[in-house]
Amino acid sequence: MEGVAREPDVEQSRLFSAWRLRALSRMPYLASTLFAVHLLDVEGLGTMVVDRSWRLYADVAYAADRGPQWASEVLLHECLHLLSEHAARADACAVAERGDHRLSNLAADAEINDDLVAAGCLFIAGEGVLPEHLGCANDRTYEEYLASLRQRKEASPAEPDEASRGEGGEASRGEGGEASRGEGGEASRGEGGEAVPGAPDGTPDTAGTRTTSKRSRRKSAANTVDFGARSAQGCGSGAGGPAASCELAADRTPVPGLDRAQRDLARLRTALDVARAARTRGDVPGGLVAWAGTVLAGSTIPWQRILHGLITQSLNRRRGNLTTTYARPSRRQSAFREVLMPAWVEPHVRVAVVRDTSASMSSSELGRATSEIVAIADRLGVRGRDLLVVDADTRITATRYFRHPHELHRVRGRGGTDMAAAIDETIREHPGIPVVVCITDGYTPWPARRPAGTRVVACITPGGNRTGIPSWVRTVTMAAV
Ligand SMILES: [Zn+2]
Repeated sequence: MEGVAREPDVEQSRLFSAWRLRALSRMPYLASTLFAVHLLDVEGLGTMVVDRSWRLYADVAYAADRGPQWASEVLLHECLHLLSEHAARADACAVAERGDHRLSNLAADAEINDDLVAAGCLFIAGEGVLPEHLGCANDRTYEEYLASLRQRKEASPAEPDEASRGEGGEASRGEGGEASRGEGGEASRGEGGEAVPGAPDGTPDTAGTRTTSKRSRRKSAANTVDFGARSAQGCGSGAGGPAASCELAADRTPVPGLDRAQRDLARLRTALDVARAARTRGDVPGGLVAWAGTVLAGSTIPWQRILHGLITQSLNRRRGNLTTTYARPSRRQSAFREVLMPAWVEPHVRVAVVRDTSASMSSSELGRATSEIVAIADRLGVRGRDLLVVDADTRITATRYFRHPHELHRVRGRGGTDMAAAIDETIREHPGIPVVVCITDGYTPWPARRPAGTRVVACITPGGNRTGIPSWVRTVTMAAV
């Protein structure tokens, strides 16, 4: 039974300093976060957890038994939960409402652990929850892992195996607001628990038992597999999991926790350090570099003015083209008893953003692209199904609805460039979309014809190529910083 949270004594503080020093030697660019969290000792907790106010609750005696490597890596792991804002993202995904805290914790762990493995964390590599344990590919987002886990949780055990495999993308689109082209489908088709260490499914993989075996493994990956004591207990409310019983109220003494401004400052300082480290050392995980780029890059483009103007023009043109429907009766129907009158329909205002993820886009350009997408979401107040984000190089590699900036840190497709194909396909797949914004360095072919009913905006990175853009494309250029 765990005790109450209390301030560490001198010896416990000394131990914690040693673990923090070891963590710093592995990821020195996380210093601002490592020094911002405040340790509280909880006897019998058997792990470390964080709350939303950046307090770290640790069973110091247990951590001392596990040794400094375990303690330092779990400390880094908890810090990444805080930097990744898993608590806020879990809120955005309605985790509490749907009772998905355990799935949320698994998804959050999977998102950060591959970065920790890339940074050389051996314990995490051996014992942590990794994307492959969830039947998913690396470099996906928390939201994608969660959608995949939810999909498997909700798949009926009686459902035919082929049906649950074939409809992966549909299911995740329907429930989570995710539309992950190819990615979500692949993940859901993956054989969930194949690689789970200690999976309780010992069924021989013979032809006769194969289907049952796969189905139970997939289910177990989401629900019953023990991923180790730490993940089974969760990482606390600061990680998007349920609050541990030892967690204190936000303003509760002995330590009140960090307020919003203090957390934002620590996050910003850490992002600066990560960006600086990425320029001088080669071992900063890519996911962290992308995260820092998004935190740091600001947008100077007046998206509200540009897009509102285009969307209004697009709507006006469509109204002129009879945007009416017979699907529901007109409010004036009673005056025309015999003739069915069409009703006016307000077209749903949506924006699609195609993000050029080809190899010619540098990580800093990708960071700028991502921050422009965030700026579009914030300034127009659009998100979810109103803001579609498409990654593309020579083909579309990922499609999802925007909910949180963290979803955009992972980048798909680093090949050649063909934004013409991506723009055309986006319009074909999402008919009636009023505006497509393409964020690119401009070294790409453009659509041969002006699409009917959709305005196209080219947003060119600083120093990018503005030649060859058709005159009907509205072109804006990002300011150099
Ligand atoms: Zn965790």
